[in-house]
Amino acid sequence: MLGRTSGGHDGPSYAVAVADPTGAAHGEDGAARGEVRAGQGGEARAGQGGEARAGRGALAVLADEIAACRACPRLVAHREAVAAARRAAFADQVYWGRPVPGFGDPAATIVLVGLAPAAHGANRTGRMFTGDRSGDWLYAALWRAGLASQPSSVAAGDGLALAGAYVTAVVRCAPPANRPTPQERDRCVPFLRRELALLDRARVVVALGGFAYQAVAVELGVRPRPRFGHGVEAPAPGGKVVVCSYHPSQQNTFTGRLTEPMLDAVLARAIELARGRRP
Ligand code: SF4
Repeated sequence: MLGRTSGGHDGPSYAVAVADPTGAAHGEDGAARGEVRAGQGGEARAGQGGEARAGRGALAVLADEIAACRACPRLVAHREAVAAARRAAFADQVYWGRPVPGFGDPAATIVLVGLAPAAHGANRTGRMFTGDRSGDWLYAALWRAGLASQPSSVAAGDGLALAGAYVTAVVRCAPPANRPTPQERDRCVPFLRRELALLDRARVVVALGGFAYQAVAVELGVRPRPRFGHGVEAPAPGGKVVVCSYHPSQQNTFTGRLTEPMLDAVLARAIELARGRRP
């Protein structure tokens, strides 16, 4: 049975003078969170021990490093300008305004990879896919799949924990118009590479959108690389599988290009693959 989640790191422990996206999934508040619903993440939790704890420590160190990065002048300027200006609806909030580390279970068997933080979403809250409509969609789906302890991800400290899943992105700083340059992508992707290496129980990587698919396919050595499409599966060396999904962007969800059943089906398949069930 899936136990109470011990939580992953939830944002950096990096000393912050602004927002503090720490603590929500750090285990100590497990009782308050309640239990993640039974089932799908079970394999991920079974036998979780020293390795996973070591992974969590290394992930926390990596998170600190990510949160301190200033390697891309254009993105640093943008993320900080957005954080300083703020959106009227969030005028009373202090934005994170830094690179955003991944979030979730260090023993995850399923890793979900997006493009980059949203300017007023993760760039505000400091937790990946948190604080915008895309995140609302994604975490609700993770909850329906039994991989999240609650159906929403509002802010660090909201009690959310993932079990068997980890959410991250190719680029860690919010890019103007959601478009990082190839140079910015290449500069940032080593963070994803290191994260994937530390998530050593991961069997399935869900690529949310074509940008993520391209990066993940390169990182995992997918050859030949099938054309991106919703539900496409691409085997990778070492027994991993990349599963493609349309990105839960408003553009896709408002137009019906991506529906809840479509996202649910991808997660159900990811769970099946993570359990070792192949066609
Ligand atoms: S995008 Fe990545 S490499 Fe560039 S500043 Fe942000 S964290 Fe650093």
